[in-house]
Amino acid sequence: MRDMQNPLTPEVLADPVALTRALVDIESVSLNEKAITDCVEEVLRGVPHLRTYRHSNTVMARTELGRPQRVVLAGHLDTVPLNGNFPSTMRGDLMYGCGTSDMKSGVAFALHLAVTLADPRYDVTYFFYEAEEIESRYNGLTLVSQSHPEWLQADFAVLLEPTYGIVEAGCQGTMRAIVTTRGERAHAARSWHGVNAIHGAGEVLRRLGAYEARRVTIEGCDYREGLNATGIHGGVAGNVIPDLCEIEINYRYAPDRDPAGAEAHLREVFAGFDLRVTDAAAGAAPGLDSPAAQEFLAAVGAAPIGKLGWTDVARFAAMGIPALNFGPGDPNLAHHKDEHVELTKIRDGAATLHRWLAPA
Ligand SMILES: [Zn+2]
Repeated sequence: MRDMQNPLTPEVLADPVALTRALVDIESVSLNEKAITDCVEEVLRGVPHLRTYRHSNTVMARTELGRPQRVVLAGHLDTVPLNGNFPSTMRGDLMYGCGTSDMKSGVAFALHLAVTLADPRYDVTYFFYEAEEIESRYNGLTLVSQSHPEWLQADFAVLLEPTYGIVEAGCQGTMRAIVTTRGERAHAARSWHGVNAIHGAGEVLRRLGAYEARRVTIEGCDYREGLNATGIHGGVAGNVIPDLCEIEINYRYAPDRDPAGAEAHLREVFAGFDLRVTDAAAGAAPGLDSPAAQEFLAAVGAAPIGKLGWTDVARFAAMGIPALNFGPGDPNLAHHKDEHVELTKIRDGAATLHRWLAPA
């Protein structure tokens, strides 16, 4: 156990702003989440209306009120590496520091509600997990979905990632592929004896340049696709006609396509070329039709937009749980040295979640 006193005191837990600051000031770079998880677990175990479980440095607490619907509030406890931005500092209405936006202000929402709301209108699962910022084999949500899938059973999930106080629904999928062109080596002085694979890449680049990406509207949310070359490799030596060129492709696709559909589309675009998929992650549909989601949107009171980047909502969607992103931080500031969050966004977002979950 920790020998220091838990900074998450009852007064701190009662105020989402103070709680954000206290969480930011417990350093928790990925794979170093033990101290913060110990503090959060100790708080949750002291709450009589919650049952609390822990797996590694992931902790889950839930109400068991027998409500017909269960919702998840989820946030990761880790941050990217510090960058001269620890501990937190205050400047007017702004709190600066590593994790202020991504996403300890969101974690503070969930922890504040877990402690202060004894009779929510849905049963609530509060889920605080480790290692979101690094490879998925460490991700606490992935690990628990394998070891204790029943912990995550729910009708709807809110991931408290930074969205600047609006709802970003679903997320786009992503696929990486390599298009290879082949030729035949020859001496550059007698190039007509060979076939230049780099010249062969010209047609691939032409198709990419002429490509018109789709814009898709699903459940009122706009998703804008993108198909881009992100790298190109070829060449043997300064006097050799190259026999191989590889173009790396990244495709960001709307959630009306699954990975198989995305691959089929890439094969169509690059028909006649050798294409190999190297990595794929499915997107997630907005999933706004459940009653809990509709009531959440009503509490927010602003139209949702589509999430363009890939987030852990896709992991919830893969478990059959519709999920959306909602948090106070500005997503454009995540991972920046001057990462910060507006105190009014914390107060407004906490009030929104309280409006949604408080008994009718
Ligand atoms: Zn995050």
